[in-house]
Amino acid sequence: MNIYPNMQLNLRKTLANLSPQVDWTQIRYVSEKTTWRMVRDEKSERNSLSFDQGVMVEVLIEGHFGYAGTSDLTEEGIKSAFDKACFLAKHASNYKAHNFTELQRPPAVGTYNSHLEIGLDKISAQEIIDIFIEATRAMKLSEKIVSRSATTMISEIEQLTISSSGADIHQNFSIVNTDFSVTAHQNGETQTRTDSGGLARCLQIGAEAFDRETLLQRARKIAEEALELLAAENCPKDTLDILIAPDQMTLQVHESIGHPLEYDRILGDERNYAGWSFVQPQDFGNLQYGSPLLNVTFDPTTPNGLGSYAFDDSGHQAAKEFLIKDGVLLRGLGGLESQARLNLSGVASSRSSSWNRAPIDRMANINIEPGIDKIEDMIKSVQRGLFIMSNKSWSIDDYRNKFQFGCEYAKLIENGELTKTVKNPNYRGTTVQFWNSLKSVSDTRESFGAAFCGKGEPNQGIRVGHKTPYCLFSNIEVFGA
Ligand SMILES: [Zn+2]
Repeated sequence: MNIYPNMQLNLRKTLANLSPQVDWTQIRYVSEKTTWRMVRDEKSERNSLSFDQGVMVEVLIEGHFGYAGTSDLTEEGIKSAFDKACFLAKHASNYKAHNFTELQRPPAVGTYNSHLEIGLDKISAQEIIDIFIEATRAMKLSEKIVSRSATTMISEIEQLTISSSGADIHQNFSIVNTDFSVTAHQNGETQTRTDSGGLARCLQIGAEAFDRETLLQRARKIAEEALELLAAENCPKDTLDILIAPDQMTLQVHESIGHPLEYDRILGDERNYAGWSFVQPQDFGNLQYGSPLLNVTFDPTTPNGLGSYAFDDSGHQAAKEFLIKDGVLLRGLGGLESQARLNLSGVASSRSSSWNRAPIDRMANINIEPGIDKIEDMIKSVQRGLFIMSNKSWSIDDYRNKFQFGCEYAKLIENGELTKTVKNPNYRGTTVQFWNSLKSVSDTRESFGAAFCGKGEPNQGIRVGHKTPYCLFSNIEVFGA
């Protein structure tokens, strides 16, 4: 426990004083320390640290939840937030969508700590900067390389949730994102290669994320690929089999499975950010979302997964659940409130981005389960196709149905072999048809995470993880940008 013992005592005492005034109340404390370090062209460019803490006070009055956040952690400050939450709950209860009870806020007790091998206190700022200087130097393979950068974002987050019905949950998260970017330029052509599409290398991990050799290898690889892209032909316009690497599968599963399965979109509450969904409540248990090879899980127990936790922000204990099994849609992403409203089973996914936001239906780790095929055999099985990786752009309609994704890098597959590199690769499809064209799934997987999945009004950027295999799809429309 890092939270100061005095502060913890103060929170518990304040909760005890406020509890008799309402049907139920909860205090959720969150502190977050985030460090950014960036090296560009072998020069240290950014070293900043932010610290934030506060509490969200939640009450249940006449079947309706009310919320108010505050960064004033004195007893008076929390009491003032409590009064605001009561005011909002009382007045809004006349217009409530559902009559909620304490069943939507189980009195869970437990702890969670991110899985890490080496504590973040075991690596200094200087050591990280030195590795990043070396990494940007390693990217300087040619005069054609005009910009090189290495960035990390390190977050340490602590949450303590206590309620009048006995919830007592303490969770500690250790998060590291490492990202490299290199830009090559020649004769009016510019190509940028990042290390898996920006913020995707984000995991719950410790200082082992800064393994020097691994980082230098990643840096060199993207520099070589940026140079290859400069000399490459444009991606052909064709209908081909495409083999998608796990970093792009991360975006594919996120946009066309994760978001459309969120219950608040299905209920019509959430319409921002390409906000509705083509999925209807009666589709659960019936819809053949993908081919029988498609198995998708909500898995907050994934070691190192960015969206791992033991309890969601309603106190619901998190467990692995199949969302899609053998291609059939089984359940969606909704916490206890949405489950009660839809009368459907869901998952522990009621999450808030910090102390100053109320929880809504989110993803956690949305994973594709591994298949049985070796990647080499998957490539061998393709007569003419495309191997594609690293997201560059995405576009999807309001119903999460038609989509078009651009990637940084691709290679042609001809007669069972990887051949020419092609630049500006894009592919498009419609969600259910696309997932039904899945014809092979690799036996290995990689984990990626997105640190700022945006949703809600006011906006909430939340951390989600995706562990996915390489996936092969048949007859997909591809084109060069
Ligand atoms: Zn998102």
